[in-house]
Amino acid sequence: LGARINSALQALSKEPVIDEKALDALLREICGALLESDVNVRLVQQMRLNVKKRVNMDELASSSNKRKVIQNSVFEELCGLVDPKKEAWVPRKGKQNILMFVGLQGSGKTTSCTKLAAYYKRKGMKVGLVCADTFRAGAFDQLKQNASRAHIPYYGSYNEADPVQIAMDGVAQFKKEKFDLIIVDTSGRHRQEAELFAEMEQIAAAIKPDNTIFVMDGTIGQAADSQARAFKESVDIGSIIITKMDGHAKGGGAISAVAATGSPIVFIGTGEHMHDLEKFSARPFVSKMLGMGDISGLVETVQDLHLEKNEDMMKNIAKGVFTLKDMRDQLQNILKMGPLSKIMGMMPGMSPEMMKGFDADESTRRLRSYMCIFDSMTEAELGSDGKVFDDGKRLRRVAIGSGVRIVEIQALLHQHRQFGQIVKKMGGPKGMLGKMNPAA
Ligand code: GDP
Ligand code: MG
Repeated sequence: LGARINSALQALSKEPVIDEKALDALLREICGALLESDVNVRLVQQMRLNVKKRVNMDELASSSNKRKVIQNSVFEELCGLVDPKKEAWVPRKGKQNILMFVGLQGSGKTTSCTKLAAYYKRKGMKVGLVCADTFRAGAFDQLKQNASRAHIPYYGSYNEADPVQIAMDGVAQFKKEKFDLIIVDTSGRHRQEAELFAEMEQIAAAIKPDNTIFVMDGTIGQAADSQARAFKESVDIGSIIITKMDGHAKGGGAISAVAATGSPIVFIGTGEHMHDLEKFSARPFVSKMLGMGDISGLVETVQDLHLEKNEDMMKNIAKGVFTLKDMRDQLQNILKMGPLSKIMGMMPGMSPEMMKGFDADESTRRLRSYMCIFDSMTEAELGSDGKVFDDGKRLRRVAIGSGVRIVEIQALLHQHRQFGQIVKKMGGPKGMLGKMNPAA
């Protein structure tokens, strides 16, 4: 989808005269691409009209001006397709929030549940996971394994066969234990069977979730529209997570899901690892979908990152301190921008020559394995300068927990020490930053 729209836009740049005819040709191509991705016909028509309304040919003088206005209009309209302009639900602090996950089997519910739990845990919430999937063999084991890896408490049962009962018991227990956020994973059978929907309704009635997240596989193409519609009819979908956006998923699914439900996409899943969850934002998403290799995409992606986290880091740096957690947050920001090869491609003036000897895939792999290592550290260890790992026992524990070899953990610690030395020089009362900021 993105590639076809992008090449249509490129073709427009080569067009010597931009007139009504050129605009119509472009719109025909873009609408064709959208229809091919099974985006609803009415939506496509609306988008065509909207672009035509935005672009007033007579008022625009130069062709380059027209080109810019047309390209911007198309971009804005595509953004509108994935943005229902509805405030997304977020768990509130000081309240016991209940979140229910629904979606077909294999869509990525259990994986996304854990990713989201880990996300809110990092934000300081007490999060628990409930496995209300009694259908799939090994469902509880899967959730248990994921949850343990992320150090997240879980609830489930091997004996109870009624998912409604398990959901109620799990929620009750976590409520009693004063959890801030309780996430309930449900089953989800093969197709949109009536039984699945009945079960979902019963669980929802029993636990009264504050929000229901619909998880949809981003690679299903044509089926997206009817699937989203079917779920919308039987549950009150609050938000959407689109998964498997790491491979060749194109974005048509995301557009269909938003159109069918009118609910906002909150996150996208970009891989199987715990950290492969990106906060959704329309503009960077559309930039990526169109494969735009320009700096504006990069700027937006960077703006979209949680730089508020770095406030703590800046304070630390001013004091000459650089913890393992600071390093994790930094590397995580880099990973969030997408594959390194893409980021390098977005840098202005980056020639293939300059990329020689830099193996982006290898670097990405290494960053990901670093994230596994950080996952296996305790909060106290993350907040430290890393010296605690002189203790071989700790090192072995993290190696076992993360499944990463000890030498690689040592490499991480070595790199952290090097960063730390630079920070020490910059910060502290005698350092550059310290001199600028007497309060630190
Ligand atoms: P569920 O049946 O809805 O609970 O789905 P699961 O969470 O068990 O996921 C089904 C499969 O999809 C598993 O193999 C996951 O590892 C995989 N998966 C889930 N999310 C993603 C994603 O964002 N990217 C990729 N590549 N795989 C994913
Ligand atoms: Mg599951």
